Amino acid sequence: MKTTSILIFAAFMAAACGNSGDSSSGSSDTTTSTTSTTSTSTSTTSASISVATATLNGTSGCITNVNTSIDAALPSWATDNFKCQVGYTSGTNYIFKSVNLPNHNSFYWCSANTGGTTSCPVGNRNATLYEALPGGNTAAGSNVIATQNLIYTIPMTPTLKTGTLTSSQGGLASIGITANGLAIFNNAAAPPDTLAVEALTFDNYGGHPQNSGVFHHHAAVTKLSATMNDSTLIGIALDGYLIYGEKCDNATVTTADDITLTANTNAATGTATTDSAGASATTLDRLHGHTTTTRHLSTATYHYHYAQDPTATIKTIMGSYFRGTIGSVSN
Ligand SMILES: [Zn+2]
Ligand SMILES: [Zn+2]
Repeated sequence: MKTTSILIFAAFMAAACGNSGDSSSGSSDTTTSTTSTTSTSTSTTSASISVATATLNGTSGCITNVNTSIDAALPSWATDNFKCQVGYTSGTNYIFKSVNLPNHNSFYWCSANTGGTTSCPVGNRNATLYEALPGGNTAAGSNVIATQNLIYTIPMTPTLKTGTLTSSQGGLASIGITANGLAIFNNAAAPPDTLAVEALTFDNYGGHPQNSGVFHHHAAVTKLSATMNDSTLIGIALDGYLIYGEKCDNATVTTADDITLTANTNAATGTATTDSAGASATTLDRLHGHTTTTRHLSTATYHYHYAQDPTATIKTIMGSYFRGTIGSVSN
């Protein structure tokens, strides 16, 4: 009976992520342009990388042979914070490319997890990057880390959407990229469960891979901020709005005056007017966002925060919908 229940759990986990589909939508590949005068076309990697033998480069802070190349034309939020990825401009968009290999230890640095157990077999473990799951957690089925080719096309000038909002679930290979180059997934798990259940498969840095090896974060990105209870820049969403930790930066260099925010307890509806109602400098809307200045945004601009999510029943990076008009992503 125990084996049966483990197998069922493994099958469930393979489909549990809200964005776990192998296919991406709206992802016409316009990202190979090298004609822009402000762009670079640096490759994300300088060599092929084996999950079984990958190592962390202490100097770059990235997996060995994963490049950091953020074009100087990008704003300081990117040039100062983004790494382990390639970023440049193309027309009216930012392009971010990532092989999506986490720059930290993980249980999922495993060449093949036989599935359903709490341990990657000893012979399959990456010698330097494998580590056990947090106590009480179990493997996300047979999922393991795999090298990706994620390309994000994100509007440089984001726009708030009116009327019906775009869902952050399903059909997208990723809904944003973290400052350390990793995929962001939304607040969803396979019904009727909540993401709180899926969180029991997160590694020590708050992430896990889906069934084609896309390592991703729904919730805390503890490689970037140990507690997330600060104004650390976490990444950028596919609609071009920045994502911060739990506190709002007060547009000053000091973090001592960062603002503690009140999360919204209502589930989003997918309608702009309803979901954006009630937001203020200290209160978030139903999409984890509000419009204020930050140290990166000298003009009051919409942005998201890591916050308690009523659908997930845990704190998550993103909610059920994008506030803005999204770009595209391919993998
Ligand atoms: Zn997931
Ligand atoms: Zn804020």
